[in-house]
Amino acid sequence: MTKFISTPSRTKEILETYGLRAKKSFGQNFLVDPVIVERCAEEAHCEGAVIEIGPGIGSLTEQLAIHAKHVTAYEVDPDLIDVLKDTLKDYDNVEIILQDFLTIDLPSKVKELKEKYGTVSVCSNLPYYVTTPILFQIFEQGAEIPYITVMVQKEVGERFAAKPKEPPYGALSAEGQYLYEVKKLFNVPGRSFNPSPDVDSVIIQFKRRQDADLSIDLNAFFELVRACFKQRRKTIYNNLREYLNDSERTKEVLAKAEIPCTKRAQECSWQDLKKIFEAMQ
Ligand code: SAM
Repeated sequence: MTKFISTPSRTKEILETYGLRAKKSFGQNFLVDPVIVERCAEEAHCEGAVIEIGPGIGSLTEQLAIHAKHVTAYEVDPDLIDVLKDTLKDYDNVEIILQDFLTIDLPSKVKELKEKYGTVSVCSNLPYYVTTPILFQIFEQGAEIPYITVMVQKEVGERFAAKPKEPPYGALSAEGQYLYEVKKLFNVPGRSFNPSPDVDSVIIQFKRRQDADLSIDLNAFFELVRACFKQRRKTIYNNLREYLNDSERTKEVLAKAEIPCTKRAQECSWQDLKKIFEAMQ
């Protein structure tokens, strides 16, 4: 019986057969831990269709193909396409697309998959150099993608999951939590990859909040959130005054939002930040 792609020996064999080396420029670190890969796919709520960013040589893709009705995987590295056709040849529910995920028409793809398979989720061991732009592109899909399960750099995962007053809490935490309940699933040690990355990793899950208010201008709200966190040591008053360029108006806005001028953004929940945004309108 063929071993799963994620076993260290099979990965080594595939890399040797194709003369491949992980490319740093594409953030390639291949998962070589079948337990982690299986668990990730099991937790991904991928009963309908699942979108994967960066299948690599197919280790997570294989497990997703076992769990989901259909897998669409976007890979940017042309050298991996023939490899994937070979390693995943036993799975007829996998579609590999050679394209930079940041350039795809995600809304059309999600619509197509939803019509065919009922639900669409995302599961990926993300290339760390583009984690945030990829996640924000997916966030824009709103309720169409209720679950996003991703492996990210531990530090980034902690920032997304942090609550107000915790040291990693920042703009990323408030923005993510405005739209999602963010849960840390488990840590992934460096030895689970070939090659081992310089940083620790974690798998986190974003579950779309049903009550997220999407009637507001999300880009404008996120811009305000980033401005409030611009200088973390400063009070919210100081950061907001710089953003609005008007001391009187800043005082008025904060008074209307019932946020003390002495508070720091790090102490503000997304609800507090939304009150400030609303007070500005
Ligand atoms: N999923 C594989 C695994 O877990 O072993 C590989 C994960 S590796 C961390 C990231 C993968 O994303 C690589 O295969 C890389 O070539 C691919 N990648 C990098 N940037 C990408 C982009 N903008 N769009 C699509 N794939 C990308």
